[in-house]
Amino acid sequence: FPLGRRLPCDIYWHGVSFHDSNIFSGQVNKFPGMMETVRKITLSRAMRTMQDLFPVDYNFYPRSWILPEELSLFVDEFHRMKDSDPSWKPTFIVKPDGGCQGDGIYLIKDPSDVRLTGSIQSRPAVVQEYICKPLLVDKLKFDIRLYVLLKSLEPLEIYIAKDGLSRFCTEPYQEPTLKNLHQVFMHLTNYSLNIHSGNFIHSDSVNTGSKRTFSSILCRLSSKGADVKKLWSDIISLVIKTIIALTPELKVYYQSDIPAGKPGPTCFQILGFDILLMKSLKPMLLEVNANPSMRIEHERELSPGVFEHVPSPVDKEVKVAVIRDTLRLVDPQKKKRKDTHCIVTVPPKQQWLGAHKHPGLWEVSPWQRVDEMSSEVPPKPTLSVILCCRCQSLLQVPEASKELPEAPKSPEAALPSLCLKQVFPKYAQQFGHLRLVDRVAALFIRFLGVKGTTKLGPTGFRTFIRNCKLSNSNFSMAAVDILYIDITRRWNSMSIEKESGMCLQAFVEAFFCLARKRYKTLPLHEQVLSLIEACEGRLGTLHGKRLVCGCG
Ligand code: ADP
Repeated sequence: FPLGRRLPCDIYWHGVSFHDSNIFSGQVNKFPGMMETVRKITLSRAMRTMQDLFPVDYNFYPRSWILPEELSLFVDEFHRMKDSDPSWKPTFIVKPDGGCQGDGIYLIKDPSDVRLTGSIQSRPAVVQEYICKPLLVDKLKFDIRLYVLLKSLEPLEIYIAKDGLSRFCTEPYQEPTLKNLHQVFMHLTNYSLNIHSGNFIHSDSVNTGSKRTFSSILCRLSSKGADVKKLWSDIISLVIKTIIALTPELKVYYQSDIPAGKPGPTCFQILGFDILLMKSLKPMLLEVNANPSMRIEHERELSPGVFEHVPSPVDKEVKVAVIRDTLRLVDPQKKKRKDTHCIVTVPPKQQWLGAHKHPGLWEVSPWQRVDEMSSEVPPKPTLSVILCCRCQSLLQVPEASKELPEAPKSPEAALPSLCLKQVFPKYAQQFGHLRLVDRVAALFIRFLGVKGTTKLGPTGFRTFIRNCKLSNSNFSMAAVDILYIDITRRWNSMSIEKESGMCLQAFVEAFFCLARKRYKTLPLHEQVLSLIEACEGRLGTLHGKRLVCGCG
């Protein structure tokens, strides 16, 4: 909109990030702060916090250290592990923060090989354990790009695309040795790198070549007897757990950009999950991409420097379905259509309603406009199945009533079935206990005070301690101030952001520190849970008292 947008839209489709502060309604395809939240360092920090709390649940993310600040920690841990097992011969991968497409990535065998000269100070990085035994197909290493729709943050709603892409290396894989460490076509699966190898195969088929559908790999694995059902369920759990790790930070950004109670849009976002399968078929998370490429063509070099765009059937197969179904799921018209459903009273003589326990409340399709509570004219069911609004059960309409005139087709009817599968809240029960940092973030946001900030000032921190009654003779308010200053100063020295104050991760660290102090003997996640419950309880009581005083 070079001249500015005149009318409000139902859906705003931004190219890179959430950046438009003039949107007051509708839906935006980006969450505020998503780009920052999935950067390599921020993701590693969020995963580390979850690994500290739930080491077994979060063992799908390789052990990582942040450079330069954790270089000495990395060196110490390396030597400790080497001392305890001299046969351990690890490889590490160093990835610059904010890099993409394999840019600046290199492999090392020893911490002394980290390239500290100049750039590392200005360009922080993550050093990570290298997965040496990936699953190979046709002797080649490959990774999986899966598309995930974060449809809503509050309440959390996650969908996963049933198919994804498998991106192949172009040189046969060998476990890393000093001789082959630098061979990017053997170790890095990035499309943007391998496309430059003479061995890259563009294929018109989805199950051959250097880029294939993930479903074609699954078919192949299944034909060899692999348990692909278990693999899918491990992938689903990896995706849900990763998003649970990201939501606290996202919520802080959200309340800052779209304050509660003021008109604003809602957000959704398509994310690209990069996953590596180990030989054992265990999926490992490599990274999350906030702006996954949605291109359905590739470039072919006709002569040096002259390119043409050629359709890519594999990309088309996977990506068109993702975009189409995202639009179907967030479709504002669908919501309007749903709102026109009417609730009718069905007379008892309708035999087919028979023994259902809630006679009276039925949702019927929008073309059957039946006056609410009309008991004179029974609705003519044109569906073979109807939905009870109260208990959400689907009831079959018996044969006799199917003779009724055919209903007009809904626009959805012409489309293929959804490729996006809901996984949250569907599996919420299994993962609810992991959402501890979310609750810590809710406390943080509560004390942020002035809307529009992402950092807690010293007064906000003191109020949190006072309202939650966390200070006592062993932990004076002076000690509270020292804790605030110590942790905040350290976090701010690592950040390039100008806004002063305590960021969420610093607050989480302070919270864990308080939890350890109070509940010494418990495992960390129980210490944190106990403190959360104590804080929530006290704030609840305080809120209750305020309400009573207000009424009085
Ligand atoms: P980028 O954003 O630059 O693509 P990635 O984290 O995706 O960075 O890493 C690039 C490639 O390096 C991946 O596609 C994968 O092939 C390889 N890779 C990354 N991390 C690991 C790891 N821990 N173990 C094995 N291979 C890895």
